[in-house]
Amino acid sequence: MTNNDIAQKGQQYVMNTYGRFPIAPVRGKGSYLWDADGKQYLDFVGGIAVCILGHCNDELIKALEVQSQQLWHVSNLYWIQPQVEAAEKLVRESGLDKVFFCNSGAEANEAAIKLARKYFYRKQEAFRNEIIVFKDSFHGRTLATVTATGQTKYQEGFAPLPGGFVHAEFNNLASVERLVNANTCAVLVEPVQGEGGIKPADPSFLIGLRKLCDQAGILLIFDEVQCGMGRTGSLFAFQHYGIKPDIITLAKGLGGGFPIGAMVANEKASSGFAPGDHASTFGGNLLATAAANQVLDILCTGNFMQQVIESSEYLKNELDKIIDHRIIETRGKGFMLGMEFNCEVKGLINICLQKGLLLVGAGPNVLRFVPPLTVNEAEINQAVDLLKEALKEWKI
Ligand SMILES: *Cc1c(COP(=O)(O)O)cnc(C)c1O
Repeated sequence: MTNNDIAQKGQQYVMNTYGRFPIAPVRGKGSYLWDADGKQYLDFVGGIAVCILGHCNDELIKALEVQSQQLWHVSNLYWIQPQVEAAEKLVRESGLDKVFFCNSGAEANEAAIKLARKYFYRKQEAFRNEIIVFKDSFHGRTLATVTATGQTKYQEGFAPLPGGFVHAEFNNLASVERLVNANTCAVLVEPVQGEGGIKPADPSFLIGLRKLCDQAGILLIFDEVQCGMGRTGSLFAFQHYGIKPDIITLAKGLGGGFPIGAMVANEKASSGFAPGDHASTFGGNLLATAAANQVLDILCTGNFMQQVIESSEYLKNELDKIIDHRIIETRGKGFMLGMEFNCEVKGLINICLQKGLLLVGAGPNVLRFVPPLTVNEAEINQAVDLLKEALKEWKI
């Protein structure tokens, strides 16, 4: 089947929820993808910050092969060895205490919302159920997480939305202070806003949130679904700021392309859940956690993270050298970079695709760079050259 065959069948049979590019990648290796017509692409989307080890990483293939011959799935009625091991690694690396596994970012955030409320319910303070979230945030597409999301375009038409979410201004501590009241149970924030346009939080803002939450006796939740798992140059984004949230949520990169999500919490917050309070049939499944174990082993071994810091600095420097009057700024952290333009970037993304470079936007005016963490300097040079060529052709 060609790209066209697949796209046509897709339009007939697959529900119309995505505006898709007219290609169907069928094979991948490292930072490269090939579509059904045999065309090669340099992939700076990586499944949107998912394929952190590149495509078809040999060690990840091996880990899944070995696990797939042993056992695929049992219920969480039983202990699951690779799940226990993945939890141990996440606890060891985060300095938090307990892990709940699920299958996606939205589910991880749902779990965090439920845990925050149940924590106060168990303390006989069920009235504390309001969560402070932020404008331009993104937390997922379930009804609760889409309500937490601070962008009305994702909420339109889905009323009635669940209650208990109030929106403050990102990077504006005073706007949070104004919203804290006797009913507040938690603050939920992305350390680097992703879908909202690659906007890093000011260190003073996150440190201020930690202080504010401590003073008010409420929980601080970091949504690290996109910015976690090595993306920003440390395994978890919170590790840049010398503070610890009570709860973090993970997904995207955690399985290196295998679907898995997780909520990691400290002992205090974790005490909110008891058997029966929350569950997921597939959460922490053997195959998924076998993948996560391998991903964590690779990220936590040798100089992997040092390499991410160096190569992401190289990419940032190369992007900063690009001169084009439409560029406003390039910002972000590690391999989570955004180039903001004074106009929409859709046309530019299409030209890049034709030239064999995959990129994705983050909001209408921001070009996002979330390549595999394993991308090398030669590939970065190639991507920057293709982007420069595309900018020359791009008329707006
Ligand atoms: C992608 C994303 C989500 C949602 O993850 P899904 O796996 O699509 O449910 C939540 N939060 C952030 C910050 C994200 O980037």
